[in-house]
Amino acid sequence: MIEVQDVCLTYQGAEARALSNVGLTIQLGESIAIAGASGSGKTTLLRLLNGLRLPTSGRVVVDGMDTEDEQQVWEIRRRVGYIFQNPDNQLVSTTVEREIAFGMENLGLDRASMRERVEDMLAKLSLESLRDRPPHHLSGGEKQRVAVAAVLAMRPAYLLLDEPTSLLDALGRREVLSIIAGLAEDSSCAVIHVTQFPEEIALAERVLVLEAGSLVFDGCPLDLFSSASDLKRWGLMRPAAMAIADELRADGRVVPRSVATLDELALAVSGDDG
Ligand code: ADP
Ligand code: MG
Repeated sequence: MIEVQDVCLTYQGAEARALSNVGLTIQLGESIAIAGASGSGKTTLLRLLNGLRLPTSGRVVVDGMDTEDEQQVWEIRRRVGYIFQNPDNQLVSTTVEREIAFGMENLGLDRASMRERVEDMLAKLSLESLRDRPPHHLSGGEKQRVAVAAVLAMRPAYLLLDEPTSLLDALGRREVLSIIAGLAEDSSCAVIHVTQFPEEIALAERVLVLEAGSLVFDGCPLDLFSSASDLKRWGLMRPAAMAIADELRADGRVVPRSVATLDELALAVSGDDG
């Protein structure tokens, strides 16, 4: 469990707080999206969760360890993996294989276990054919997959993703998204995903919305997307599937309220002859 207790954060030299009195709890296995306008504090909140930033006031506690406790920093970083917005900022090795092994080197694993985890990650993220390639020569989507593999190889309990698809084309986004969806199903790892894409928000079980550093919404995507006036204020759009579902309903078709993604919409209308 990660506990964020009444946290405020003011950057040095800044006049306004980047985060104000934020309180929330994240359980193992949760799938959470963090949304909000640019500058609302999403990245700051994510960085607090693994101790990359410390609160100005309040506390962040990861599985009982306070992120302010210097003795626990490495254990916290091991449990809370972080995928940056731009994978170029975290890829450091000369081959894909070495990149995946890199983060594990401080875990004190024997060679055989490390090899096994590298092979497992290469397979899970479809990177086998790229194993000897330098990561910085890969496409954006491939790089982001390598970054995800390197972090997952450390078997984190929580995975933080900061707009990991924002620099990708549609194909790369789909690839990375299907991996995130797979992770969410594997209930052992919590996924906390900063995104401004409505379709990605709709895939999460729980959404947090930040507005000027305050947590203004904490609930499920369907509740978020049904509050039209707030959405506009928070700079968010409804998923295309929900808008299409509304038009179908206006035409007299029956479409369940729970439809939020195009896949769900396709499923809902496939059994309906109109
Ligand atoms: P988001 O990720 O939602 O775009 P951020 O967490 O990056 O928001 O930023 C929140 C606020 O803090 C913004 O006003 C931003 O300008 C400010 N900020 C972010 N990083 C720094 C920093 N290193 N120093 C000073 N101010 C910062
Ligand atoms: Mg950000």
